[in-house]
Amino acid sequence: MLFSKVFIPTTKETPKDAVLKSHQFLVQGGYIHQIGSGIYNFLPLGKKVLDKISKVIRDEMNLSGAQELLMGFVTPAELWKKSGRYEKYGNELLRFKDRKENEFILGPTHEESITEIVKSYVKSYKQLPLNLYQIHTKFRDELRPRFGLMRGREFVMKDSYSFHSTKEDLDREFNQMEQVYRNIFEILGLDFRVVQADSGAIGGSGSKEFMVLAESGEDTIVMCSKCDYASNIEAAKRSKLTCDAIPPKAKFAKFHTPNINTIEKLAQFFKIDEFFTLKAIVKKAIFDSEANKPDELVYFFLRGEDELEITKALNVLNKDGANVLELADVDAIELVKCGLNPGFIGPYALKNITNASYIIFDIDLENAEDLICGSNEQDYHFVGVDLSLFESLTYEDIAKVKEGDRCPCCEGILEYKKGIEVGHIFKLGQRYSKPLNASFLDKDGKSCFFEMGCYGIGVSRLLPAILEQKSDDKGCIWTLSSAPFHLSIIVSNTKDEKQFQYAYKIYEELKKIGLDVLFDDRDIRFGVKMADFELIGSLYGIIVGKNFQDGKIELVYRETLQKEELDCEDLTAQIIQKFQYTRRD
Ligand code: ATP
Ligand code: MG
Repeated sequence: MLFSKVFIPTTKETPKDAVLKSHQFLVQGGYIHQIGSGIYNFLPLGKKVLDKISKVIRDEMNLSGAQELLMGFVTPAELWKKSGRYEKYGNELLRFKDRKENEFILGPTHEESITEIVKSYVKSYKQLPLNLYQIHTKFRDELRPRFGLMRGREFVMKDSYSFHSTKEDLDREFNQMEQVYRNIFEILGLDFRVVQADSGAIGGSGSKEFMVLAESGEDTIVMCSKCDYASNIEAAKRSKLTCDAIPPKAKFAKFHTPNINTIEKLAQFFKIDEFFTLKAIVKKAIFDSEANKPDELVYFFLRGEDELEITKALNVLNKDGANVLELADVDAIELVKCGLNPGFIGPYALKNITNASYIIFDIDLENAEDLICGSNEQDYHFVGVDLSLFESLTYEDIAKVKEGDRCPCCEGILEYKKGIEVGHIFKLGQRYSKPLNASFLDKDGKSCFFEMGCYGIGVSRLLPAILEQKSDDKGCIWTLSSAPFHLSIIVSNTKDEKQFQYAYKIYEELKKIGLDVLFDDRDIRFGVKMADFELIGSLYGIIVGKNFQDGKIELVYRETLQKEELDCEDLTAQIIQKFQYTRRD
């Protein structure tokens, strides 16, 4: 491509809301253009990278036996009502009506549509398994669209859905998809981790996420320093906590603790480790409209050193169908109104005081003794608390795993890392096939619901994810399979006929061998052209400049900005060699 002819509107202006460098460079490099909140146009360069990434995904999906289709972006609301998600999906779901008052949604994901398709045609186990995918637009009315393509409202996803006659076959496909995803992200040249994940609103049994490691990532990954255990913090496990400090052995008694209303003060007051204190967290459960229930206070108890993991807490409440949408904070005034003493809340007589339906203890507290906890009376705590003496407490895993906690697999030390979620695979089981009544006949002629899996990749999110991991402060650094151009050719003096003719010849030759080349033929300052090369991020720059008269050109490797002098003679052969071992497309 000739730079003078193509539409690559590079600019020095930084988008006002750009927090991340990927957002800044994609706009400045002429890749994307914002047209509304969380809605972006892909300009030719952005579309080129999107296509390259899609090609990697498509090739690997096809190789695995999955088949591509394309489903309507607009989906009849009725299907979503049947699955129960029309209500449950909340405000991220864009609902609207057509001129005949028919209700629709803009697809944020397509489990309902695909189930409807397969249900219509697949009647026998002999037609299974099936894995169908699309690369298409999604819409989620995100509360805070941000970071450019990273969290858009409209974005491109690769979503696939598999159908099976048995759980075992679903397990097989799930494992295959994990491998396919590993291949995809490896080909894309990313440093990533596969982590245990929460199944979120889509529902289902097992799920794993693919995280690109980057400091700017919004997700926290818990990783073991010794083995390969890795989990999203929302689903992370740990082995039972231990404490070397001396336990505060005491007979059960009430103790005067004036103004000792935080865990920190309590540990200091008794000169004990926070491990031996009991922390109460009170939240307000807000139910979805289906539950038809007013807000209600719910109570969680943890060791003093721990924090509540909200996703785990929500899952615990919802596993028996509580339909809690959100756990909101509660202020001290409201606690007092309910007869509670903030800073002194404890489990004794709590049920009588509050009439609570949900009092949940963290699993690490199971039968814990030598604890100190609030007495539900201002300025008093209980010492010598032994939870094994309580009857029928509910213990669940609700604590946020901390750095320094021990690995559930090998007891190694757990650490945090930041990640960008670029893929997510789920075992859905019969979560959709049952409510949508999608069944087939098994080999005994019995009608069974399909076992389903679903597998998503954030195709448009991969652009910023790559840049967040690779870029420097000058501009985009892409990987071999994602870069818009393999090479940029830059002539330092376009008025020098010899330089220009040589550059043009090289441009033609390199194009012929199938490389993506951008020839910067613009009659502008050399410095500006170099700045654009660094901003756009072609893998290499060929600079035809000052040493051309001695038969030399300069090759710049964008990633490191290292320069190398090459002979003008047989340049194409030398370039082919550079790409020989690394080219895949
Ligand atoms: P997140 O936790 O980041 O909101 P999610 O778990 O809701 O994502 P999934 O339903 O798992 O997303 O969707 C599959 C993939 O689509 C995600 O792994 C992510 O890469 C991508 N994705 C999800 N939401 C967005 C968005 N708003 N903008 C761009 N990509 C997105
Ligand atoms: Mg996800």
